[in-house]
Amino acid sequence: MLDIIQIPVLNDNYIYLIHDPVSTETAVVDPAVSEPVLDALASKEWQLTYIFNTHHHNDHVGANLELKQKTNCQIFGSEADRKRIPGIDVELKHGDQVKLGDQVAHVISTPGHTLGHIVYHFPDSHALFCGDTLFSMGCGRLFEGSPTQMWQSLQLLKDLPGKTDIYCAHEYTQANGKFALTLEPDNPQLQQRLAEVKQLRSASKSTIPSSLDQELATNPFLREHSPAIQQSLNMTENEAVKIFAKVRELKDRY
Ligand SMILES: [Zn+2]
Repeated sequence: MLDIIQIPVLNDNYIYLIHDPVSTETAVVDPAVSEPVLDALASKEWQLTYIFNTHHHNDHVGANLELKQKTNCQIFGSEADRKRIPGIDVELKHGDQVKLGDQVAHVISTPGHTLGHIVYHFPDSHALFCGDTLFSMGCGRLFEGSPTQMWQSLQLLKDLPGKTDIYCAHEYTQANGKFALTLEPDNPQLQQRLAEVKQLRSASKSTIPSSLDQELATNPFLREHSPAIQQSLNMTENEAVKIFAKVRELKDRY
């Protein structure tokens, strides 16, 4: 199993350190800034081997060059973003596998938030590092891709095992949950999760990771099949992509 450390930075970003205790290899996912990463590495006495980037936004790649210079690590990112990921060494595409010691991550292409967005799934540790594609009770804004692309990307993530831990890159859970409740006010799992989240946040605690099972039960961007959501939007179940697009549009204006 991997050791996973969550580092909160900036307003609401999470950086993750992933460490394989057998090989002692360590990766950082989406380093926005360098200092908290270097501090965490030092306190664990880990050496940085790799940077895994999910997409090119600055709050995900901001510390790439500094960390590479200071640790000599290798930088992995999307082939489609090769010109936008500072210091990229290894270009990845859908279906590629990345190794951290003996632990294998499957690379899944998830265009939508950006066109080159990729996520890293470690099946043996049931961990998904999904950047700004999937959030707890939400999903990333569509800056570059179409609703159809993002919907298809999310379908790929829905097919992962339910016990998969969802390590997303932002703490947006409470605001997402409030919006979700406007569409499904009577969903008991959503009510329960939101109550839990309120408690965690008022104690300044993280709500991440969630699990895929939890997201399937509460995340409106994964729930076009929900009769309550269809009713809220006055749409029918054979309009899945349209329902997704409408939920995204409503959230953008919420
Ligand atoms: Zn982003």
